[in-house]
Amino acid sequence: MAELSDPDAKLAAGVLAGKRRALAKAITLAESTRPDHEESAQRVLESILPHTGKAIRIGISGAPGVGKSTFIEALGMHLIEQGKRVAVLAVDPSSAQSGGSILGDKTRMERLSLREEAFIRPTPSSGKLGGVAARTREALLLCEAAGFDVIIVETVGVGQSETAVAGMTDVFVLLQLPNAGDELQAIKKGIVELADIIAVNKADIDPKAADLTAGQIKAALSMLRPSSKSWQPRVLEVSALKNQGIEGFWQAVMDYRKIMQACGEFDLKRRRQALNWMWMLIESGLSSRFRSNPAVHADLPELSRAVEQGAVSPAAAANRLLEYLKLKS
Ligand code: GDP
Repeated sequence: MAELSDPDAKLAAGVLAGKRRALAKAITLAESTRPDHEESAQRVLESILPHTGKAIRIGISGAPGVGKSTFIEALGMHLIEQGKRVAVLAVDPSSAQSGGSILGDKTRMERLSLREEAFIRPTPSSGKLGGVAARTREALLLCEAAGFDVIIVETVGVGQSETAVAGMTDVFVLLQLPNAGDELQAIKKGIVELADIIAVNKADIDPKAADLTAGQIKAALSMLRPSSKSWQPRVLEVSALKNQGIEGFWQAVMDYRKIMQACGEFDLKRRRQALNWMWMLIESGLSSRFRSNPAVHADLPELSRAVEQGAVSPAAAANRLLEYLKLKS
């Protein structure tokens, strides 16, 4: 059996059998930028792809301190009690830009991380956001193939990471603080438009403020055009710390899935996401091919200087450099 001696096939089989070590190894492979690793990772992904798609993919975002890890832990424990297996992945834009991390690899979700039914994967600590997001997407597929029922992708309310996470999940959740009276940052930044569910967390501290905030968000949402004809974003009040509203939140996720599946938008969204992902990979592949092209490499410094000095127009320089890609193929 040639296939069994093939390490990539073995690794894929381990993932499909739900073995944690195989899963962790396959994700590490998918995160690697070594060309031979990339090739292996693609082979593993190709062979597990037919076994993906069964989980519900949830994106969770919110500013640092809003209670994301507390919430994910409470939700994760609730789901485990229901007999589900939960994977938690992270897209951390700060780590992508600076190597430092806002989400942090500290001892977050301590209870959840001890559970056999949970798999928590800290974010890769380097690379561009697009690259980190692409690798998270691959990790998500690997977790699905390994039999996890719920995949949570967490991100922090900074930069473009919300869009990336909303683009790889079925339902996008925004956590907010009860900051009644303040201007709502998320509305200003346009993140609310991405949200299918908004949960006002820490409602235990000041329930009135939480009510007020929820009301403000609802009012703001009613002025936006909903992204789906069938789903009006829901606003909930929860307390992750006190474990309140978690069941109601999960019910909202289930309602979302049911309604969106019934009208066909659930699958449509996934199909669009897959196509968008293909385009993102084409664009990043083109850009890395461009940068590693020897002729580009040789000509770039001089041409860049010429453009800076106004001796060559940016368009002419770009055209000349892009022509080098043709030579290769
Ligand atoms: P993250 O940065 O968004 O992951 O936030 P954390 O989950 O680390 O929470 C930040 C702080 O808020 C911690 O001290 C939590 O204990 C606290 N916290 C989280 N959720 C709640 C809540 O529902 N109520 C209260 N009172 N505190 C909370």
